[in-house]
Amino acid sequence: MGEQYFNPNFEANMRRDNKKVISAAVKKCKTVTIVTHTNPDGDAMGSSLALYLLLKKLKKKVKVIVPNAFPEFLAWLPESKSVINFQKDEKKAKKFIAQSDLLFVLDFNTLKRIDELGEFIDGTSMPKFLIDHHQQPDKFAKYFYYDAKACSTCELIYDFMVELGQKKLLDKKIAACLYTGLMTDTGSFRFPSVTYKTHSIVAELLKTGMVPSDIHGAVYDTYSRDRMKLLGHALNTMHILPDNKTAYIALSKDVLEKYNYQKGDTEGMVNYPFSVNGIVFCAFFAEWDGYIKISFRSKGKIDVNKFAREHFSGGGHINAAGGKSHLSLQETVEKFVALRLK
Ligand code: 5GP
Ligand code: MN
Repeated sequence: MGEQYFNPNFEANMRRDNKKVISAAVKKCKTVTIVTHTNPDGDAMGSSLALYLLLKKLKKKVKVIVPNAFPEFLAWLPESKSVINFQKDEKKAKKFIAQSDLLFVLDFNTLKRIDELGEFIDGTSMPKFLIDHHQQPDKFAKYFYYDAKACSTCELIYDFMVELGQKKLLDKKIAACLYTGLMTDTGSFRFPSVTYKTHSIVAELLKTGMVPSDIHGAVYDTYSRDRMKLLGHALNTMHILPDNKTAYIALSKDVLEKYNYQKGDTEGMVNYPFSVNGIVFCAFFAEWDGYIKISFRSKGKIDVNKFAREHFSGGGHINAAGGKSHLSLQETVEKFVALRLK
């Protein structure tokens, strides 16, 4: 994919192109597409819309394009209505991409993650600019602002803004977008990825008048009754393996339908088993859209990125990764259990 942009000094975990390079790239572009990953989450949407708002202020023609719909609990985000859903408006999306002279790739690092949209983008010639915090990116971009130590892509967008010399453009709307990604990707500021820097950025965001409790409320306290009952079912049927360290939740299509599953309803469910003393590895399986969507979470040195890459065609971070399986739900779970108890 796009080998012309291969950089022999490519770092596995960090590469932030310098101020001169990123400033020149941003100065030169006029029409910009921002794409983020399939099943966009708070960090994907927050970082994309924050960058969108910044580029608008810099007088660029810009659109955010998502591979498929974002969940309802993110619909309050500023400018979310301007986002183009590739699955729904493929023609419009392709037309805008074709006009663009720069394409940002946010919160993911392989075009394979965005399926058909990725194939289309791979066939285009405009430079790609990757801003992300996942490990081991594919080498399809020309510009990189990439750091696996960042707690979220929103943290990197904040740095990017500062590095461009545009911190003065930070306003309440951009701050709300960035706070959403910081909050959701750190499990409300409780994961080990949280540092002094995370909270320093939050302090800067607060100066704009952004209200964190409103954002917590909008993202977390908007469950439907069905979603809450689905969570109840998930917790009741959670399995803990005989190692007493591994737990999993598996939801069949029938169960999801019973509780009238809506996009985003299972967001965060994978983390619940950690509340059980001793659990250091959680897996979540959901049967949907003709395949099994998988999430893995771990504590400490257990590398679920490696596990997901090796066994479930996925990837992510050391402590949070995802993957897919085309086996049945039961076979997928059996494969997982066998691997964990090996
Ligand atoms: P989640 O479990 O929340 O869907 O994803 C956890 C992390 O793993 C996220 O950072 C996400 O970007 C990454 N991830 C999820 N699914 C996949 C996948 O199928 N492939 C890859 N490479 N990464 C994934
Ligand atoms: Mn992220």
